[in-house]
Amino acid sequence: MRRPMVAGNWKMNGTRASVAELIESFQQQVLPAAVEIAVFPSFVHVSQVLSALDGAKVSVGAQDCALQSGFGALTGEVSAEQLVDAGCKWVLVGHSERRLLLGETDEVVSQKFAAAQLSGLMPVLCVGETLEEREAGRTLEVVARQLGRVLDDQGIEAFRSAVVAYEPVWAIGSGLTAAPGQAQEVHAAIREQLARSDRRIAEGVRLLYGGSVKAENAAELFAMADIDGGLVGGASLKADEFGAICRAAGN
Ligand code: PEP
Repeated sequence: MRRPMVAGNWKMNGTRASVAELIESFQQQVLPAAVEIAVFPSFVHVSQVLSALDGAKVSVGAQDCALQSGFGALTGEVSAEQLVDAGCKWVLVGHSERRLLLGETDEVVSQKFAAAQLSGLMPVLCVGETLEEREAGRTLEVVARQLGRVLDDQGIEAFRSAVVAYEPVWAIGSGLTAAPGQAQEVHAAIREQLARSDRRIAEGVRLLYGGSVKAENAAELFAMADIDGGLVGGASLKADEFGAICRAAGN
């Protein structure tokens, strides 16, 4: 039985004041114990969020990590070890904004995935097709290539401690959400790809859907057999909305 998960990707948003306000409001929410909840603030707010959430059942992750593990001369980067030391449990790897706007290749994403696991962080591997790729009928091929690179490099055992998020690029921040059936088709293909290496591991991997998840569409998405929760961007910046999405994952 997979424990549902809802993750809030705050992206490059917030100030110390707005982050404090968001956490305070979020702590008023009634949250289902059965759902694993995590938030992913900017690096500069990680410590603040961890202190403010002290004792709360919400864990914290970062939105990226360096592809090299450990410490050393890599100006501007933050390593997975530093994130663990700061108190993070999770890290997003391969978010489409980093793949498309910052040129992260499948190879780099795979290296970051490995660096995260080496230090004890749980990677949330993001995969997803662009609108052009979907319209060309290449969705499953693109997602299989992105996942396949990590699977080939790191092996199926690595997926015992990882989460995969399917995020169609055309649905991110656009207000367009994949129909539940469309999302389920890709989630089932991801699980089947993993199952070809090891069915038991594949059955245990949590697959999150991301792309304009809101309180009003969360329940029908989460009702799909292979959708184990959501990776939520814009709606995670509103405490009421994010709380409602977390509750939808618990039903
Ligand atoms: C995201 O960027 O991970 C995301 C899913 O964003 P949004 O929910 O705003 O579409």
